[in-house]
Amino acid sequence: MVTSVNLALHSTVFINGEWISGPQENQIVNPANKEIVGTYTVATKEQVVEAIHSAQAAFLTWKTVPLPERAKVLQAIIVNLKNRKEELAQMMTLEMGKVLRESQGEIDVVIQTAEYLSGEGKRAIGEVIPSNFDNRVIQVVREPIGVVSCITPWNFPVSLAAYKIFAALISGNTVVWKPASEVALSAKVLTDIMFEAGVPKGVLNLVTGPGSELGQILTTHKLVKIVAFTGSTEVGIAISKAASDTLKRVSLELGGKNAVIVLKDADLEKAVEGIVQSAFATSGQRCTATSRVIVEKEVYANFMEQLKQKIQQMTLGNGLNPETSMGPIVHEKQLNSIEEDVRTALDEGGELFLGGNRRDELGGFYYEPTVITNVQRDHTIAQKEVFGPVVAVIQVDSYEEAIEVNNNTEYGLSTSIYTQNLKQAMQATKDIESGLVYINSGTSNAEMGVAFGGTKMSGNGHREVSHHVLDLMTEWKSVYITY
Ligand code: NAP
Ligand code: MG
Repeated sequence: MVTSVNLALHSTVFINGEWISGPQENQIVNPANKEIVGTYTVATKEQVVEAIHSAQAAFLTWKTVPLPERAKVLQAIIVNLKNRKEELAQMMTLEMGKVLRESQGEIDVVIQTAEYLSGEGKRAIGEVIPSNFDNRVIQVVREPIGVVSCITPWNFPVSLAAYKIFAALISGNTVVWKPASEVALSAKVLTDIMFEAGVPKGVLNLVTGPGSELGQILTTHKLVKIVAFTGSTEVGIAISKAASDTLKRVSLELGGKNAVIVLKDADLEKAVEGIVQSAFATSGQRCTATSRVIVEKEVYANFMEQLKQKIQQMTLGNGLNPETSMGPIVHEKQLNSIEEDVRTALDEGGELFLGGNRRDELGGFYYEPTVITNVQRDHTIAQKEVFGPVVAVIQVDSYEEAIEVNNNTEYGLSTSIYTQNLKQAMQATKDIESGLVYINSGTSNAEMGVAFGGTKMSGNGHREVSHHVLDLMTEWKSVYITY
């Protein structure tokens, strides 16, 4: 059932309401079968500067549009998203390989984001502070800030962008979006959907091309006031440094080494279900993917047997095929990196329990769902983000040891714990060092409206997906009115 998306593939650079061609087009390869999906335009540095100027010019008008009116534009985007959902979902699966129902689910998240943030059109409430003087009123109001550089990864081609772009738009800011090159065509479709819905010229601009080059301008240009980034910790640190000379606000959503803790009184069937879903959805290429499982030794054997049975039911294949439970890895470079991480794990004393093979005969960049046992807490596989379908299992003797192992990582994005002991569960909510904590569900189960982000090296303290994102996208102005 492989279909292709009918899209005018002439350019992926959108500046001031126009699709602009560039000197070079690069190919996008479908990871499921290595066919060419299309091409994306490599924007020139001059075009990136032009996009920033276009956003700055549009800001002067957009910031004066009343918030409820900006909210209406988000409402119109919802209508267009629903109409073009299948087209966009297909493109996402063709470009980066996730199974089609995950692509569709991601678009539902984009719709929920627009619904939620359009509500902020009425809720971006300020303060009235009692004055020391009888003839004075003091009000504190949120103000838009200016041009936002949104830089996003390939694993969630549209939702991570929507979190940033919709928050910027409702706040009265304007945007230059640089998606990951792998998913430039999905970014083109989403941009087209937003423009058709009435986002004015210049308010949203799209530039595609290598992050290492375009990113330098997007993170240092003095007209850019905010950088909203999701991606690797390594690039996040580089962006933070680059943006500091001009005192930009920088929001970083970075990597993770997320664990599921399975205590001896856990419902093992539920734990296995949660782990398989969180470890292997998007082929493990999620910032919140479960990559460590920490199990109490009393239930280890029983748990491992159930885990094996569940994983053996999975089908690897093209994400457009409805039978497929797990799609390919995004590209060959990432596949090689996963292979290398598994090799290191085995060299350091880990044992292959399941999987561990690339599956070239399927015609794309496939890797089996993989479980490595006999892992010790300091092994590389227990510390380094793999970004693939690989789970490291660590046995522990107690709850206390489980928490120690969980917290023994530089990351702090998401942790779950399975237990039927309420007291233990409540204690865990305090002991776990991560931005997201789940009791009795997998590590990748976030909901709209709830602060999303990580602690430690998983982020720099900002939170998306909730009203807290307004603290990034607006600044407070205190107005003293004496009469
Ligand atoms: P990445 O390599 O960090 O790239 C992310 C984006 O940054 C891409 O658009 C990339 O452009 C661009 N970029 C690269 N170098 C840059 C630079 N020097 N300055 C500015 N921009 C630059 O991440 P990825 O490989 O796409 O995605 C995987 C990573 O994202 C994982 O570490 C994962 O944990 C993290 N992630 C985090 C979250 C979260 O919410 N915490 C969610 C999803 C993913 P090009 O690639 O086009 O060159
Ligand atoms: Mg990359």
